[in-house]
Amino acid sequence: MSRYWSPIVNQLSPYVPGEQPRLDNLTKLNTNENPYAPSPRVIEAINGAVNEGLRLYPDPTSISLRQTVADYYGLTAEQVFVGNGSDEVLAHAFFAFFQQSRPLLFPDITYSFYPVYCRLYGIDYRTIPLDDAFAIALDPYTQVNGGIIFPNPNAPTGCLLSLERIEWLLQRNRDSVVVIDEAYIDFGGDSALTLVDLYPNLLVTQTLSKSRALAGLRIGLAMGNEALIEGLVRVKDSFNSYPIDRIAAVAATASFADEDYFSKVCRQIIESREQLSADLKRLGFEVLPSAANFLFVHHPRRDAVEIAAKLREQGVIVRHFRQPRIDGYLRITVGTPQQSGRLIEVLETLRLPN
Ligand SMILES: *Cc1c(COP(=O)(O)O)cnc(C)c1O
Repeated sequence: MSRYWSPIVNQLSPYVPGEQPRLDNLTKLNTNENPYAPSPRVIEAINGAVNEGLRLYPDPTSISLRQTVADYYGLTAEQVFVGNGSDEVLAHAFFAFFQQSRPLLFPDITYSFYPVYCRLYGIDYRTIPLDDAFAIALDPYTQVNGGIIFPNPNAPTGCLLSLERIEWLLQRNRDSVVVIDEAYIDFGGDSALTLVDLYPNLLVTQTLSKSRALAGLRIGLAMGNEALIEGLVRVKDSFNSYPIDRIAAVAATASFADEDYFSKVCRQIIESREQLSADLKRLGFEVLPSAANFLFVHHPRRDAVEIAAKLREQGVIVRHFRQPRIDGYLRITVGTPQQSGRLIEVLETLRLPN
């Protein structure tokens, strides 16, 4: 608290990201980063962009990157928005679409940034409980609302909704914007991008932080009807006209050009996920079905906080959320096979009751 703050700053409860410890030799499985390097072509493109051109501002419209993304997904550049990480894209979407007289709807267990944006912008919201299997039950989302948002697959559960279910919702919700946050869609889900031409109120957000291994560069995307994109641009240009720097723009473009590398990395992570899931089940964990690059797990006879603490003592970092309903769960990022091996090795020394 400070008397110099604007009054609303006292009301904020900021998002707390997973820790980024400075220690070496950690098995870092707590923030869903990609365990593999970005494509070598991305590194080359970055090196090529480090030159005297940096004295100039970047293109405020990021048209070259937007056209690349549009071509990749079969859209037009006018249907693509880019921002400084999808967190920024989401913040603009909350500002642009969800400040309504009716409440925004999202799941009780979901990306914990959503309520943070609501408090920042004074958005009224209502949370809808996940069903008993921790899946998103869509029926309650047909109530009157000022907007709908959820990740698909959901975070931190990893549970995926089919495209049919998403279209089911879109057919019943025509009057407010539906944002599908596809931060993890490349790890096995079907993107709702195929629906953006049919539903003018659908906005799909994605990030280059996870499947494309560029968390350090901060690049996020939103795709949807031109009018939605124009709304986002109006907010962006009232906030920061140059969210994507020159280096990020060329790196992102290069990433979309190297499909072989991208699909190889995604396939490897999916394979490692299935292996890790089987290994954790063997140790007595309940593992939710995941279509993401993380697993959400629960041990019926051992405290989650205690397991996380013991792992940490051995240099393995996983994420625990101190939150009702999921207090007994851990979210574990899928790393390399070596990292999974290290995790399992340490868990075995804990002698978990089977
Ligand atoms: C990681 C994540 C984001 C944010 O991604 P950035 O592009 O790195 O800001 C958004 N939504 C969900 C559900 C995420 O897990």
